[in-house]
Amino acid sequence: MTLSGQEFVRRWSMHVLPEGFVKVRHYGVCSNRTKLKVRAIVFADLGKEPPPLTKGLKWVEVYLQIYGKSPLLCPSCGQSDLITVQILPPIRDGPSCIKSYNPHALQH
Ligand SMILES: [Zn+2]
Repeated sequence: MTLSGQEFVRRWSMHVLPEGFVKVRHYGVCSNRTKLKVRAIVFADLGKEPPPLTKGLKWVEVYLQIYGKSPLLCPSCGQSDLITVQILPPIRDGPSCIKSYNPHALQH
């Protein structure tokens, strides 16, 4: 499908809500209120055990749960925990408002 720029903007702008309106993102079976109940029903219908919940777990614990191995082990020899040697700076600088922020300038 190929659209002209004007037609694309027209279609895209149809998704912009008027001022004062709020988009409801999660409702029905996806709402926070019902999703745990629905989850249990869906997996019961499928005849499968639902996977354990990951809320509140650290990323390392979730990784371990999913892949069955620690992400901190050396991928080559599989032994000992990896340690952080260096954190590389971001490739891009980020927003200009952060670059211009100087906390020491506020003290003087
Ligand atoms: Zn190793």
